[in-house]
Order: sequence, then C-alpha cells, then structure tokens
Amino acid sequence: MGALLPPGPHAGDVVDLNRALAVLHALEDVGAPEAQADSLLPAEPHAFLRQFARTLPAAQQALQFVAEASERYDAPDLVRTGVVLPRRSVRLAAPVPRPGKILGVARNYSAHAAEAGGSAPLEPVLFLKAPSAVIGPEEEIVLPKHSQAVDYEGELAVVIGRVARHLPEEGALEVVAGYTVANDVSARDYQNVRGQHFIGKSCDTFAPLGPSLVTRDEISDPHDLSIRTFLSGELVQSARTKEMVFPIARILAFASKLMTLEPGDVLLTGTPAGVGMARKPPRYLQEGDVVDVEIERIGRLRSFVTVERS
Ligand code: ZN
Repeated sequence: MGALLPPGPHAGDVVDLNRALAVLHALEDVGAPEAQADSLLPAEPHAFLRQFARTLPAAQQALQFVAEASERYDAPDLVRTGVVLPRRSVRLAAPVPRPGKILGVARNYSAHAAEAGGSAPLEPVLFLKAPSAVIGPEEEIVLPKHSQAVDYEGELAVVIGRVARHLPEEGALEVVAGYTVANDVSARDYQNVRGQHFIGKSCDTFAPLGPSLVTRDEISDPHDLSIRTFLSGELVQSARTKEMVFPIARILAFASKLMTLEPGDVLLTGTPAGVGMARKPPRYLQEGDVVDVEIERIGRLRSFVTVERS
C-alpha cells in the first residue's frame, strides 16, 4: 500500500508504507525490520484491510516518520531508500483489486429512479457485481462486442474494514475502512432488455475503482460530498451524496442482517441522475470516450473506453 503525500517537500509523491515502516524500524534497531513491517503493515491491499484496526495506526506511524524525517539528524535519504517514490514513477492500481464481493444498490437516488422509469424502493435493493470486473484508474473499459448499450454510473464506493453481521444502523459506519470512487458500468441491453442484471453489470472491466482509498477518519460525513461524472469532458451527472434514498449505514445494516460483510468487500452506493440510457437520444459509451467520475475529497477516477477485438 502507498500513500499520497500532502503539501511539503515531496507533495504529490507516493510513500511506500511498508518500506517506510521497515526503514523506521531499522533506525530504531528493531530486530528483523522487514519482517516486522510485513507483519504490521502488509503491502498487499487485502491483507492490509483484513487487519485494518492494526494496520491503520501502523500506516499513520509510517507517515509520521516521513513527515518528521527532514528534521531528524539521522534520517536516511527517503528517495534513495525507496520510501518516497516520485508520482510519475508509480502506476496506481484499484485500492481493492479483487474484492470478496461487490454489492450494488439499485435506484438509490430518487432522480435516477425516476429517469429509469420507476420510483424509489421501500428498502435497499441490492445486487452482486462480479469482483473480476475491477480495473484501476486510467485503465480501459472494454466494450464487449456483444453489447451495443454500455452505460456509465458514477458512484461513491465504500470499502469494508471489519467483519460484520447484524449491524445496528447506529454506528454501522464503524466497519468502514474508507471510501473510493467507482464507475458501475452497465450493459443496458443485458441488464434491462434481457433481464440479465448480473451479467450486464459484471462484464470484464465494468468496475473501475480508485484513484485512492480515503480512510474513514478523513471523511467525517460521507453524505456531504459532491459527485460528478464527465463524459469526454461534458458534465453528465452532478449531485450530492446527501441525496441518497438510503444512507450508507442503513444499507450496511440491511445487508448484514442476511450476510456477513468482510474486510475488502465493496459497496457501490448507487448512481445519481444523468446516465446515458436516460438521455434523449440515449448516449452510450463509444470507443475513444474518456469517463471521469469525481467525488469531493476523494479524487477523480478516469477511464478510457475501447472496444473488444477478437
Ligand atoms: Zn449502480
């Protein structure tokens, strides 16, 4: 796992958290510093999320070390030791490259429910999206040759950081590790026309996630964020997350009545109005499109659209 650095001598660069902790431990004469760092702050995202209550403080300790290193007389060169990596040398991956499960919520913004020809549901309507559909930021959404109606859906994504069953709604957000940005790409000709909801949501590359995981402690209210989608530069979706029909805590409580939520699971919280199928005429994704989903305080998730070639 890496962390983007705030303003300072390395602003915008990336910290290799595992490496930072190993270097700090070496300075402090901890035995086997690399093995210690691997145990306390694993580099692999799923391992990081599985022990989130322990890895988050370790990550904060590693960042603190980097922030203070410029003032330490014995500080090693952070770039030379591989602790700080120039942003341009790093390719960001999805924050959760292979979630255990991806839960989606249908019609969770009233204006979107209306444009889709329905009303807001009485309880959260959940569906599964295949984890194999995940891609990272700046990667390609591949339009399957057997679909002619692939659509975008900008969404706030919630990443689970604790095992949870029968969560009370109050305090449910405590199981959240953090938030990221998602595009719930959907083949409408399968999802709607053929009633094939699962396959229409689960084609390869249909779950762009990123660019980063912003931990829960940094977002005091996930329902006070602007969310916008741009299709090849044109603003097509614009809303605030307070417009959700069911707040995140309600959805987590509802889902956990029936199934265990696990670290590394991802909840997509629904899309606002403005999807391509509701435009007159409909505007589906085409080769060469660039889709940007932007959420306040989290960042901008960019995807490039290409077509399947056989
Ligand atoms: Zn969706």
